[in-house]
Amino acid sequence: MHELALADSVVKAALQAADDAGITRIGRIVVKVGELQQIEKDLFEFSLTSVIPSQDPRLADAEFDVAEEAVRFACRACGTEYGRSDVDIDSAGDEGEAVHFIPELSHAFARCPSCASPDFDITQGRGITLERIEGSADDAD
Ligand SMILES: [Zn+2]
Repeated sequence: MHELALADSVVKAALQAADDAGITRIGRIVVKVGELQQIEKDLFEFSLTSVIPSQDPRLADAEFDVAEEAVRFACRACGTEYGRSDVDIDSAGDEGEAVHFIPELSHAFARCPSCASPDFDITQGRGITLERIEGSADDAD
């Protein structure tokens, strides 16, 4: 239940953010999932929307907005930042497709578009990020 654990940490972070912002009713939680994150997205969204909200009344009206975050690379040689569309990964055919699922393989295909160095850091597109929460402070009484 990898996805449930991830969803649980997203919700815990959202509740913490709500506490910090004085939000008592959360309306929307925006989550970014990196395209290199290995996750069953349907199961992740199901965990977010169906399993966890019942645990906290602040989540009663919450909607979850799950967006994919594209991978970005930063060249270690010259500092150029580039995305997957800037490199010719897709021409690698079936092996290129595998990059979606095996992050380590992207080292085999990505080359800096400026200096052609294969040495890069992945600056985004990994992991799961709580982008923001929206909500209101229920101070009616
Ligand atoms: Zn470079």
